[in-house]
Amino acid sequence: MRNSVIPLTDQIKILGVIIDSKLNFIQHVNYAINKASKIFKNLCKFVRPTWGVHPENVECIYRQVIVPIITYAAGIWGTATRFYSVRRALRSFQRSFAIRAIRGFHTISAVAALALAQFAPLHLIINETFHIHNIKRTGTCKELPDDIILYPKSKVRELLHPANRVTINYDEATTQEETTALINPDAPNIFTDGSKKEDGQAGASFVVMREGQQPVIKKFKLCRTATVFMCELFAIAEALKWLTNVNANFTEALIFSDSQSSLKAIQDRSNTDPLVNQIHHLISFLSSIRIIVKFVWSKAHVGIVGNEIADAAAKEAAEKKTATLLNHFPLSHAKRLLRQHTLDAWQCEYESAPQGSVTRSFFPSIFAIAQFRQYIKPSFSVTQILSGHGYHKSYLHKYKITEDDRCPCDDVTPQDVHHLLKSCPIFRKHRETYIMTCLNKNLEPFNMNTVHKSEDAVKYLVEHINQIVNHLKRINGT
Ligand SMILES: [Zn+2]
Repeated sequence: MRNSVIPLTDQIKILGVIIDSKLNFIQHVNYAINKASKIFKNLCKFVRPTWGVHPENVECIYRQVIVPIITYAAGIWGTATRFYSVRRALRSFQRSFAIRAIRGFHTISAVAALALAQFAPLHLIINETFHIHNIKRTGTCKELPDDIILYPKSKVRELLHPANRVTINYDEATTQEETTALINPDAPNIFTDGSKKEDGQAGASFVVMREGQQPVIKKFKLCRTATVFMCELFAIAEALKWLTNVNANFTEALIFSDSQSSLKAIQDRSNTDPLVNQIHHLISFLSSIRIIVKFVWSKAHVGIVGNEIADAAAKEAAEKKTATLLNHFPLSHAKRLLRQHTLDAWQCEYESAPQGSVTRSFFPSIFAIAQFRQYIKPSFSVTQILSGHGYHKSYLHKYKITEDDRCPCDDVTPQDVHHLLKSCPIFRKHRETYIMTCLNKNLEPFNMNTVHKSEDAVKYLVEHINQIVNHLKRINGT
C-alpha cells in the first residue's frame, strides 16, 4: 500500500483471544497462562502488607481470579486441550497454586496436589466451559436425546409491548378458611400444581372447581429435565389456556397456586422465561375478552381441599406412561451433567496416574477428599502425611538427604507415613488416645473416609499428626 509492504502475521489478538494461523490456539493458552501468572504476582504484592498470602487466600484468588482468566472465551478455543503439550502446561501451572493452597512440599505431584486442594484439572474445566458454550449456541446437549432442546429465554420482541404488560397481585391463603373466604362462587376457581419426583419424573395438573359442578381435573406428563418451577408455571399456563376455550359466562377467574416463586416470576413484568411470557400473553388476551384473572398463593400440604386434589393429580401425571410435554432442559440441567462428567474424568485420571500413590492409599476417590476437607483443612502437617512428602526418612532418603530410610525406633522398619501414623512406638501416646476415641465411636481408626464422623476423632488425629511432624522436624528437618 503506497509502496510499503504490509507483512503477513501469523497471529492476531481479537477481544483477548489470540487467533493463530493454524487455528489450534496453543499460543492463546500460553498467553492466558502468562497473563494469569502476572496478575497473581501483582495480587500477592498488593495483599502482603495487610494480610499476607495465606493458603486460604491463594485458594480464593485461584478460584475467583485465575480460573475465570484461564477459561475466558473457552467456547472458542477449548478444543486446544486435545494437545498433550497444552494439558501439560495447564497442569504444571495449576500445580503451583495447589501446592501453595495446601502448604505442601514443592515436590508433590500435580495429581496429588490437585486432589488434596480440590482443584479440578484445568483442561477438564476448559472442556466443560467449551461444551456449555456449544449448548447455548446449538440448543442441544449431546448427553440428552436430540428432541429435548434447551429451555430458551424469550426475546424482548416476543414480550408484550410495555404499554400492554400486565401487573398482577396475589392474595395469600394459609388455611382452608382463608381459601374458602377467597373462593368466588360465580367464577371458575382453579388450583394448579407441579410435581417432580425423586427419580426425575415430572408432571403438572390443574383442578377447576365451580359451584354445583363436578371438578374438572387435567393432568400433564412433562419431560424429566423440567424443574419444579417449570412444572408449576406449565400448570398455570395450561389453566389459563383452558379459560380461553371454555364456553361459559363469567367475568372473573381465580388461580390458586402453591408456588410463590412462580407467582413472583409472573409479577415481574419484564420476565423473559418463555412460560411466564406465555402466561402474560394469556392474561392479556383474557382481559381483552373481559375476563379478569386473580391469583392466590395457597399454602401447600395444610389440607386445603383444592390443593390436595391438584397435588395428587400432578403426582399421577408424573407417573403417566404417555409421551411427555415441555421437552426442554434448563441450562442448569446440562451444567450438572457436564460437572458430573468432569468429576468422573478427574476420578479416572486420579486413579490411573503413576504418581500420587500415598494420597491414593488414604483416599480412593476425589469425593472422599472433598468430604475429609469439610472437617480438616490441609495444613503444613496434615499435607505432609497425606502426600507422603515431608520430614520423614523414607522421603528424605528418596531425595538423597539421608543415607538410609530406617526409623530409629528399631533401626529396621522404613520410616514412611503409614509406619509413623499407625505403628511407630515413638508416637504411641497420642496414637492411643486417637484409637480409643475411634473405637468408642465404632469408627475404624486410620480410615480417612469415616474419621470425620466424630469431632473428637478429628481433633485427636490432627494432634497425633502434629506431634509426628513437629518431632520429625526437630530431628530430620533441615
Ligand atoms: Zn518408628
